[in-house]
Amino acid sequence: MENIAELLERNEILAREVLAPAADEVDQSRSFPRKNIEAAGQAGLLGLLVPREYGGAGGGLPEMARVLETMAEACASTAMVVLMHYCGAATVVAKGSPTLKDQVLPEIVRGKHLSTLAFSEAGSGVHFYFPVSEVSQNGSGQHLSARKSFVTSAGEADSYVVSSRKAGAANPTELNLYLLPRGTPGFTVEGRFEGLGLAGNSSAAVTLDQVPLHDEHLLGAEGSGFQTMMEVVLPHFQIGAASVSLGIAAAAFRAATTHVGGRKYEHAGKVPLSAIPRVQFLAAEMALELRSARAYLAETLRRATSGDPEAMLDVLGVKARAAEACAAVVSRAMTLGGGAAFGRRGGLERMFRDAQAAAVMAPGTDVLKEFLGKACLGLPLF
Ligand SMILES: Cc1cc2nc3c(=O)[nH]c(=O)nc-3n(C[C@H](O)[C@H](O)[C@H](O)COP(=O)(O)OP(=O)(O)OC[C@H]3O[C@@H](n4cnc5c(N)ncnc54)[C@H](O)[C@@H]3O)c2cc1C
Repeated sequence: MENIAELLERNEILAREVLAPAADEVDQSRSFPRKNIEAAGQAGLLGLLVPREYGGAGGGLPEMARVLETMAEACASTAMVVLMHYCGAATVVAKGSPTLKDQVLPEIVRGKHLSTLAFSEAGSGVHFYFPVSEVSQNGSGQHLSARKSFVTSAGEADSYVVSSRKAGAANPTELNLYLLPRGTPGFTVEGRFEGLGLAGNSSAAVTLDQVPLHDEHLLGAEGSGFQTMMEVVLPHFQIGAASVSLGIAAAAFRAATTHVGGRKYEHAGKVPLSAIPRVQFLAAEMALELRSARAYLAETLRRATSGDPEAMLDVLGVKARAAEACAAVVSRAMTLGGGAAFGRRGGLERMFRDAQAAAVMAPGTDVLKEFLGKACLGLPLF
């Protein structure tokens, strides 16, 4: 059984000693951070959200947020892989059958099982909660054919939480979620999606061709997938993605302020850039973005863990706010970092690219603002 405080401390050490030194290599070789994930598994971090009765740490959203922010500050690709794993693991914890939990959760705790989500489809794009694929029923049972896009850890994960409309669904929210193990017949990983940033997250499309579905694969009751997405997946993904954005922003802030503290011009009496008022102004703007987004995340966590009926508003808002704060911080950091930031040294260029993913990862910033706007105006979200 894990002690959460010790686990969080191990995560700090892991980020400093394992993730950060390898971040440029993971990015430039565009390779899946296997060693980082193995080390995170050995440190007990993959089992963070697994209940204590299964040997896990029994952590929740606040601990997840802290772990992911620290990881992202060191290596955002690794943090994204772990975020999608946490979304998958949380779904198994909440909705897996007792048999499935007995199979999967102890393996996650041992650090030997990585999960992920395979939700996105071209037919509904950034609106991931409306898959267009549908389970088919024939004489030999239920099957699923679908093409899932941009799946993080594709070909690397040990299981995939897959969404689809249930067989004969009367409306697009009658969904099922399934946990499909690696090696499921009919499940193929296509070529890599070469993203601008998060180059190590092994994002790829996966094809399901008449994949046979069995009762033990189903997560929750038949037709309850949409509710599970909203109640389990969304809070973990939104809060986790916000934490990843904040980790990238914190790293960029540190890199830029370190640069301006040490950079001096001979022609100007070797005074550091940090003595220039405009530089101070940009540093202040970065600090305000970072600190206000962090405070909003803390408030979201407080509401989400206290049963506040308004929590969903903030769960929707926090990913958008953190994504925008991160983009603003990284943009200013690029300015302050000058030519060195523009080149592939010091990591700022990598952080700039990594920062762009949050705005488009579903639900993207525009869609989240549409939801928030509707909620503010008393309109139904769907
Ligand atoms: C790094 C990365 C990792 C990912 N990992 C996973 C994963 O593990 N699993 C998974 O299932 N998916 C994953 N995705 C996919 C992701 O969640 C999105 O589904 C995907 O990025 C959406 O891309 P799209 O091209 O289909 O967007 P589109 O649907 O084409 O949308 C493009 C843009 O249109 C605008 N738009 C669309 N609808 C509206 C609206 N109603 N209101 C306002 N604006 C709107 C938005 O600006 C949106 O960004 C990942 C994506 C990335 C980039």
